[in-house]
Amino acid sequence: MEIQDILHDVYEEMKPHIGEGKVADYIPALARVDPQKFGMAVVTVDGQVHVAGDAAEPFSIQSISKAFTLTLALGRVGSGLWSRVGREPSGTAFNSIVQLEHEHGIPRNPFINAGAIVIADVLLAGHKPRETLGEILQFVRYLSGDDTVYMDDDVAKSEQATGFRNAALANYMRSFGNIHNPVEMTLGVYYHQCSIAMSCVQLARAGLFLANGGRDPISAQTVVGRERARRINALMLTCGHYDASGDFAYRVGLPGKSGVGGGILVIAPGKASIAVWSPGLNANGNSAAGTRALELFAKKTGWSVFG
Ligand code: GLU
Repeated sequence: MEIQDILHDVYEEMKPHIGEGKVADYIPALARVDPQKFGMAVVTVDGQVHVAGDAAEPFSIQSISKAFTLTLALGRVGSGLWSRVGREPSGTAFNSIVQLEHEHGIPRNPFINAGAIVIADVLLAGHKPRETLGEILQFVRYLSGDDTVYMDDDVAKSEQATGFRNAALANYMRSFGNIHNPVEMTLGVYYHQCSIAMSCVQLARAGLFLANGGRDPISAQTVVGRERARRINALMLTCGHYDASGDFAYRVGLPGKSGVGGGILVIAPGKASIAVWSPGLNANGNSAAGTRALELFAKKTGWSVFG
């Protein structure tokens, strides 16, 4: 069966489930998003683009940005990064603070909020926040091959105004010496990276290098080496869905990174990069209908990293 036909079937089967879950309301700008939105895009390693539903509409990628900033930070400091952030699944909520005390301010992995705040701090070193934001945005535009990708200042400001828990995490890590820049600056970078708005098509396109051993098959540019691409995928599989990472691996069987905007980026190595968007979240803060759609899609295609 052709991928476009599979996608069409998934979309039809998903229709009764669209609107499931609860839109994130702890960030006021996200609470206003229409819960009935649903989009999906598949970009294959041979450059075909398949779409369903609201695949061309930009949404707040939120924590999906953490996959891109991790890639940048590894490029900047290489394996030295692992002295400041771990590589283990957390088993706790995305914004949990308890583990940090036991582990002396070293976050479990780069995808929980604390870990991503450390990564933002790494990217900020030696730069002004504006320069770091420019670097992140330029990288995401380059990966998606689309200069219209933007940061949504309203979303960033909205999160900044209400991000008390992230501020607590950052200050706490600073007390252990694991945040090097002024906390407000590091958080400013973090909130703005989370505010990047992209469509499913742009997002799937941006993740394609991870499906193709680190080399973007469309631009023919090497973004990272094969080993690094493999390792980023490994982290997405084990940590990309917070305390539901095991469940996502069980149900979908592919590396993925979710965001509280309701998006999920999934990598099918050697095959395709897939993005889905449905704003309603499940209890773990991951897109409810999005996860269900990916589960269906993986089942119909037979794609899985587990054979
Ligand atoms: N900006 C969100 C936060 O810090 C990201 C969380 C997510 O997307 O999972 O709370």
